[in-house]
Amino acid sequence: MKYYSTNNRYKFFSFEEAITKGLADDGGLFMPESIPNLGKEFIQNLEKKSFVEIAIEVSKHFVCNEIPQSKLEEIISDAINFPAPIIEINKNLFVLELFHGPTLAFKDFGARFLAKIMGYFAQKKKSHLNILVATSGDTGSAVANGFYNTQGINVYILYPKGKVSKIQERQLTSLDKNITALEIDGTFDDCQRLVKTAFVDLELNNKMNLSSANSINIARLLPQSFFYIEAFKQIYDKSLPVVFSVPSGNLGNITAGLLAKKMGLPIHKFIGATNKNDVFTEFIKSGNFKPRASVLTLSNAMDVGNPSNLSRIIDLYSNSIDEIRNDIYSATFTDVQTRETVKRVYKEYDYIIEPHGAVGYLALEKFLKENSEQKFSSVVLETAHPAKFKDEVEQELSVEVEIPERLAKCLSKEKKAVELSSEYKELKKYLIGGYSV
Ligand SMILES: *Cc1c(COP(=O)(O)O)cnc(C)c1O
Repeated sequence: MKYYSTNNRYKFFSFEEAITKGLADDGGLFMPESIPNLGKEFIQNLEKKSFVEIAIEVSKHFVCNEIPQSKLEEIISDAINFPAPIIEINKNLFVLELFHGPTLAFKDFGARFLAKIMGYFAQKKKSHLNILVATSGDTGSAVANGFYNTQGINVYILYPKGKVSKIQERQLTSLDKNITALEIDGTFDDCQRLVKTAFVDLELNNKMNLSSANSINIARLLPQSFFYIEAFKQIYDKSLPVVFSVPSGNLGNITAGLLAKKMGLPIHKFIGATNKNDVFTEFIKSGNFKPRASVLTLSNAMDVGNPSNLSRIIDLYSNSIDEIRNDIYSATFTDVQTRETVKRVYKEYDYIIEPHGAVGYLALEKFLKENSEQKFSSVVLETAHPAKFKDEVEQELSVEVEIPERLAKCLSKEKKAVELSSEYKELKKYLIGGYSV
């Protein structure tokens, strides 16, 4: 399988090149040259397959001969080492829990897969990689965790001092070995600027092999398609058309679902649920893409004003807004509605949903109301564990949100971070000084 950039359909790259580059030199996003068809037999026999077996079969099509079969199996068993269970909270209404990974968010799927794949290619070339990531919270901990203990790769996580939640900070700063947390006296934008400056600093790049673990890397997208298939496996005997509601920000998650549909998974509709950052909802309505600055909301991992994966969706549908609308419905909701929904879902179904999942639930409800003549099997993707938003959730409900053991463990560890100012020369001095050959 070869990969091309969404800005140029005629130049091809290997899987390894697409992973290593992350973003194409022309600024486009990598896409597979063709979408494999999983085949009717594969879909009909899903029930007999484990989550890991499904993931292996799907990724074989995308990796082809660039990673030996036995190695790929090892990578996947290692990356997808937690389940994606479906809970029926009401008749034909399901929640897909994507938070059973080490950092309690669905980003664990993408980050772990990317880390193991990059680790494999680095080891094969016997090269030593240094990964720089700027984070406003969640991405950093999933990436750090994914790369933890990976041979030949050091990870530096830059986060803004005092601007991530206590839980997020503990998740970022409680790892050791090949992971270093850099606490920057500045904003998230400063962290991003520092990382970008480092990537174009020739002197630094001559001294150390730098790489990114960017969210638009195709190896972070592909593994997200696995859990749609795993979810479908758990409900398809209901013989109703299936609808997935996806809390959306940068649109990576919903793009992976669309990819699964193009591979042959029979999904009736995808719902792109947005908060007040509703550029995507506007796009579905008007056909016009108008990026704008993001605003802060309760579902903050969806606060994206310029969703990069939209170019992948447009590419998947060859630029046809009618075909996009055929497969995708979208709706947007406020924080007030989100809060009210956290409360209502608990009252009606005795299920604790966090703010991102609540936005997904609202969009699903709207879709079902507008299509009440038909019956569906409906699935809301719950993208994070409620304990990650403990304060917000407990404010709405008079119950205590239990903290899972893997989070409690990391909360009890000591914070380890290197404090740096937001001046680039200080970061550079630290990286060069701290790098041992
Ligand atoms: C990242 C994230 C999202 C948004 O996913 P995209 O792929 O960026 O659309 C939703 N919920 C949570 C909890 C997230 O961390």
